[in-house]
Amino acid sequence: MNQDAADYQERLSHLGISRRQFMRFAGLMTATLALPSQYAARVAHALLTAPRPPVIWLEFQDCTGDTESLLRSSQPGIDELLLDVLSLDYHETLMAPAGADTEVSLSQTLARYPGQYITVVEGSIPTANNGIHCMIRGRTALSIVREVCSNALATIAIGNCAWDGGLAAAAPNPTGAMGVRGAVPGLSPLISLPGCPANVVNLAATITHYLTQGAWPDVDSSGRPYFAYGEELHDECERHDHYEAGRFVLAWGDEGHRQGWCLFRMGCKGKETDHNCPTVRWNDGTCWPVAAGHGCVGCASGSFWDRMTPFYAELEDD
Ligand code: SF4
Repeated sequence: MNQDAADYQERLSHLGISRRQFMRFAGLMTATLALPSQYAARVAHALLTAPRPPVIWLEFQDCTGDTESLLRSSQPGIDELLLDVLSLDYHETLMAPAGADTEVSLSQTLARYPGQYITVVEGSIPTANNGIHCMIRGRTALSIVREVCSNALATIAIGNCAWDGGLAAAAPNPTGAMGVRGAVPGLSPLISLPGCPANVVNLAATITHYLTQGAWPDVDSSGRPYFAYGEELHDECERHDHYEAGRFVLAWGDEGHRQGWCLFRMGCKGKETDHNCPTVRWNDGTCWPVAAGHGCVGCASGSFWDRMTPFYAELEDD
């Protein structure tokens, strides 16, 4: 065993992850990024050898759902691997320091790694009334996000709220909530991973893309990576053939529901949603809402609380 291989082995055992689990993770990242399968070894090498980029994770108007998504990932080791691959220098929910010490952690990271840290933003940023609706240590979220993001290597807006304001921006949007692209205009690179919450597989794949290719993934006009948001969810859905054949669930628990027919008439918003939810899935890749028998609520779509509600009302068909 050469030194590199011995080092890998040691890091993996430290994380309690077997080589088999790790290669499975590398394979998952390769597939999520739609790279040829032979890239898996390169991805694995990059994950274990690339320098650990410092990360500042900011939370504003949010429910902590994306942090929960990170910590509750059931794919073996995604959370451990991400937390090992990254140097999570500042995350108010996860960090050990509290109170004034958190301020020190943030200012030290900003001073030590100018232009070298990744900012992850979770939650929307209130802009009404000079941003007073979200204050942290006496500062507005707006002033913090502008300062931190403007000197970052890159910013990742995780979850629907950080993308376009999400729930807090639903009408009448009393706090003037915005996503990062609205609050910090012109920010680049800015990668947005909407979803309520975002799937941690897509966060891991975004970072893996950077560590492997030395570049951030290509994004669409609203900042979403094509690998995760380039296809209509409806086209990838396992119930699609039932849709085409006109076999619809008409009441919860009816024969069509028991047979796994299409949920369109029960309000499924899959035709209005671009996301890789049906292929990446949740719970160790085993399930996603439609597979569990509930329609897609369009949580990765823009203004989804205003556009996709009521969730159980049928979309107008085209
Ligand atoms: S269940 Fe939803 S996403 Fe799936 S085929 Fe029917 S309408 Fe499309």
